[in-house]
Amino acid sequence: MTRDPIAEMKVSLAWLPLAQPISDAKVFTGRQRPLTQVAMLFAEIRTESGREGIGFSYSKRAGGPGLYAHAREVGPELIGEDPNDIERLWTKLVWAGASVGRSGLSTQAVAAFDIALWDMKARRADLPLAKLLGASRDAVPCYNTSGGFLSTPLEELLENVDRSVAAGLGGIKIKVGHPDAREDLRRLEAVAKRIDGRVALMVDANQQWDRAAALRMARAMEPFGLVWIEEPLDAYDYEGHAALAQAIDTPIASGEMLVGPAEHFELIRNRSVDFIQPDAARVGGITQFLRVAAMARESHLSLAPHFAMEIHLHLAAAYPHASWVEHFDWLDPLFNERQQLRDGRMVVSDRPGLGVTLSEQARQWTVASCVISRSGVVDGFH
Ligand SMILES: [Mg+2]
Repeated sequence: MTRDPIAEMKVSLAWLPLAQPISDAKVFTGRQRPLTQVAMLFAEIRTESGREGIGFSYSKRAGGPGLYAHAREVGPELIGEDPNDIERLWTKLVWAGASVGRSGLSTQAVAAFDIALWDMKARRADLPLAKLLGASRDAVPCYNTSGGFLSTPLEELLENVDRSVAAGLGGIKIKVGHPDAREDLRRLEAVAKRIDGRVALMVDANQQWDRAAALRMARAMEPFGLVWIEEPLDAYDYEGHAALAQAIDTPIASGEMLVGPAEHFELIRNRSVDFIQPDAARVGGITQFLRVAAMARESHLSLAPHFAMEIHLHLAAAYPHASWVEHFDWLDPLFNERQQLRDGRMVVSDRPGLGVTLSEQARQWTVASCVISRSGVVDGFH
């Protein structure tokens, strides 16, 4: 029985500009251009009685208009449905577009709806999403990434370290994978010295190294006592990660580039990583993330989800083993709420659902939108 069916949805695409262009190892090797903006796909779902849920997905560089087009096309499948039946609705949405794949862009578009349905379910229960899922903790250790890009000059990087520690973050992650390995070690040494044991330290190579370079660099970095080395190798080199993890003491982290549970399963069954890093939007939503988390839990992996702390704080708080959340302030202007930091941790707020509402600024950055209802799809109301 559907007591309160989905009546209307708004789907929109917004471009979030970054304060300055960002480069990691993928840019230094010429594979990608510096990142200047992030495409945000929003889904706002409303039921007949007026209950609401909001979800989002994103793309860095190409893909935003494709996400929007796919969401606009499959969205009508949800009208008249019971928003509580998230598993069934995920399957329905994915199979509506299965011809173009059950992972990748199509499921990243579905993710926005899936996340909105989870937000709605938690709001209906009047619980933060972490509590709805069965929280393991009320606050999650968090680390800063956005101050440590390869494009950041060392002096600025060191200032960011101080600022992050003062703001209450519990860790600092810096990018490595500079064409000159000595430059990586020089920056790492300077940052480790500046941190002086106050907070945790991690590095992220963004798939820059081959197997030999990864082993050499990982060994050189062992004395720094890193919490993890992230993406030392190509994201699909499951065996290479496993061999590296065997050879060194520093834990290995990876998974942000993987687009579904099937790929994460390979990472898990090959024993490639110590920290698994799924991204709820990239793997197809919270429903899919929970599948990855369930597998990771049985393998006793630690969890450090990628990006989008607004979603991942809840998912990391619900995970039973050790977890971290990545602090990125990039999405701040899109939402009216801010995450609270305390003693190196990000605190799950009392607000129900994800605990976020879209800001006026997000509306202003919207470049395309449509309203989907029983009467069909109407474009252009943003
Ligand atoms: Mg990363």
